[in-house]
Amino acid sequence: DVILSEGIDFGSLLLSQPVLDGLSAAGFQKPSPIQLKAIPLGRCGLDLIVQAKSGTGKTCVFCTIALDSLVLENPSTQVLVLAPTREIAVQIHSVVMAIGCAMEGLECHVFIGGRPVSQDKTHLKKCHVAVGSPGRIKQLIELGMLSTASIRLFVLDEADKLLEEGSFQEQIKYEDTISTEAVYISWIFSSLPVNKQMLALSATYPESLAQHLTRYMREPTFVRLNPSDMGLKGLKQYYKLVQSHPLPHKVFEEKVQYLLELFSKIPFNQALVFSNLHTRAQHLADILSSKGLPAVCISGGLSQDQRLEAMSKLKHYQCRVLISTDLTSRGIDAEKVNLVINLDVPQDWETYMHRIGRAGRFGTQGLAVTYCCHGEEENKMMAIAQKCGLSLSALPSTIEPGLM
Ligand code: ADP
Ligand code: MG
Repeated sequence: DVILSEGIDFGSLLLSQPVLDGLSAAGFQKPSPIQLKAIPLGRCGLDLIVQAKSGTGKTCVFCTIALDSLVLENPSTQVLVLAPTREIAVQIHSVVMAIGCAMEGLECHVFIGGRPVSQDKTHLKKCHVAVGSPGRIKQLIELGMLSTASIRLFVLDEADKLLEEGSFQEQIKYEDTISTEAVYISWIFSSLPVNKQMLALSATYPESLAQHLTRYMREPTFVRLNPSDMGLKGLKQYYKLVQSHPLPHKVFEEKVQYLLELFSKIPFNQALVFSNLHTRAQHLADILSSKGLPAVCISGGLSQDQRLEAMSKLKHYQCRVLISTDLTSRGIDAEKVNLVINLDVPQDWETYMHRIGRAGRFGTQGLAVTYCCHGEEENKMMAIAQKCGLSLSALPSTIEPGLM
């Protein structure tokens, strides 16, 4: 269930009365933290990148912004929403209609493949909000059925899914590969009026998505949840300093020694270990397995089947440690994981949050430990902690089971 903001209701957000009535009728009394942050910014007309994990209420963010800006007297399409799947498009439609229930004459329709275009044509005679898949929307614009002239708001829901080549794709990803969806979106974007607002909503914010979005958006404002809003309260976060050494494998060996000690003393359930280098990941899996800790590794070198098998082992408790790089971190179903290890300091704070967010979910207790070398890595870690507003502590030198 979505966590709601205490004390503040939607009435404080200065929305139009019909939208307030609709929210209330839809059973939305108080905004969730992401709604509280994003809706006022969106109403100012800013381009937003809204990043928050699933279930935080992102649909209501863009539906509210969209409905609040509509001119119902104008029957043409003013809001265009792209969604990655039919189910999501249908869901968005139902949220638009629920929040828009007090807006008389409101028309919202779903445009997805597998249905006759003739039906779409009828719907487009009056359609304030169009929700659809990139392929079908492009087709309708090309056929001249969907007029883009009045579109003032362009929304990419689940932008990470819309613009990524799909999970497991990275193994066959070459520098300039660009998914069909991304090509469609780019085409649609260039057919829209220059003056418009754009919102992108996503559960994750990988570098590849950032690259896509910066092509489209005008100095977007990032809206994210603070770690304290992310349900990570039960997660204790530590760093452990490791002697730096000119030979990288020496550093690796020392980190592994510390890791083995930690594993032997902490009563963890299952652990996730992130390594920046995938070549190290398999090596580490072998070391751990040889020490009696069933470990599997999902690195970029594995086939999709092998990755699914590793994932299934984690899920069915046939392994206790899963080792991954960031490339393969997507789609890890880590419900029982309560220990996350960063063998190296991640690239940036988003990656850090993404990694550790995989433990201590649902308010459960968890532990995250990041190993960093004195010097450069240490500085990087401190910068991440500052950005995330974390109070990181050094891992105690004697590890007690109660640390967890
Ligand atoms: P996301 O897109 O972030 O994954 P959704 O928009 O699908 O999240 O919302 C998740 C659930 O929370 C939905 O069932 C939705 O109805 C509910 N929800 C969202 N906002 C509120 C709110 N302000 N009050 C009550 N329920 C809400
Ligand atoms: Mg969503």
